Amino acid sequence: MPHSFSSILLSWYDQNARDLPWRGFHDSYRTWISEIMLQQTRVDTVIPYYHRFLSLFPTLEALAAAPEEQVLKAWEGLGYYSRARNLQKGARQVMREYQGRLPSDPEELEKITGIGPYTAGAIASIAYDRRVPAVDGNVIRVLSRVFGIREDVTVPSVRRRLSQLAAGLVPADRPGDYNQAVMDLGATVCVPGTPECDVCPMRALCDAFSRQDAADLPCLPRAHPPRIVVYQLLLLRSGSRLLMRRRTENLLNGLWVFPLLESEKELTADAVMKKLHLAVSDPVYHSDARHVFTHQIWQMQIFSADTAPGAPAPDGYTFVDMREIRSLAVPTAMKHPLSAAQQLWPESFNHACSMNVL
Ligand code: SF4
Repeated sequence: MPHSFSSILLSWYDQNARDLPWRGFHDSYRTWISEIMLQQTRVDTVIPYYHRFLSLFPTLEALAAAPEEQVLKAWEGLGYYSRARNLQKGARQVMREYQGRLPSDPEELEKITGIGPYTAGAIASIAYDRRVPAVDGNVIRVLSRVFGIREDVTVPSVRRRLSQLAAGLVPADRPGDYNQAVMDLGATVCVPGTPECDVCPMRALCDAFSRQDAADLPCLPRAHPPRIVVYQLLLLRSGSRLLMRRRTENLLNGLWVFPLLESEKELTADAVMKKLHLAVSDPVYHSDARHVFTHQIWQMQIFSADTAPGAPAPDGYTFVDMREIRSLAVPTAMKHPLSAAQQLWPESFNHACSMNVL
């Protein structure tokens, strides 16, 4: 079965491979960038970011030398910003410890910040033709179905078995194409939920197809629902400036947000004074906004208020000129509040600001 699995898959790939801009090169830097961007993000979303990122940072050296703020700005709208920060830390580490060239050995690759077993396998096989697997959610889904693995795939012993199975399937010839073929099959045919078995080259080999239970595989534990966090978001104007904060928390670290206050009651000038130590006009409700992260949902009530022009910003905050906001890295979670600010004070923003958040 292993031999027929890989040869059927490679023949299918020769006819059906997706035409993606990072394919067709033996270039470890391009493979690295694309694989990191593709984590938790759809291919269609990644393509324009990939082109832009490579034009800004065409080499690993250029990425290592860039200011972090510029890298975060290039990532703006892609989400999961720790990927961008780790990518740059990794690039700096490669410059320091590997003479500027990503190693080909998967174990060495895993020593680099931001590179886990999957990305190491992808880089080693695609860029360096190493015979190693790249096991991600797509691969787990395809293998669970074809080989009829009906146990919880998050259990370490089951996961180990899947990894061994995956490693044994990689052919000596074209290991990189083989790994990309499994990814393509998982992304276009053997999709989550109900797969497209009618057009699948694996049908004759597939255990889940013969038992008609593909939609139930892979077996996963019940997911915890995301936590809902309610915030009162304050658009606080001082002259032509708005109060903002560069986050230091893990979530959206290094990105700029408007003040997010947690208060059980209606937002009042007194409550703002207590939390930000600033005298403000009565906050006026504008609208609601919601942003869904993997583990939490921000439910934001947007208010606007004024404080005196020239007022000093509270500790940890900065008053930012509205025309300057476009030069900051602002997360998608702030897209609606930023539009609200533009509606409220159009004269203080210039037109280019509407392009700010992707
Ligand atoms: S036959 Fe169906 S379940 Fe089996 S690998 Fe193909 S698409 Fe997936």
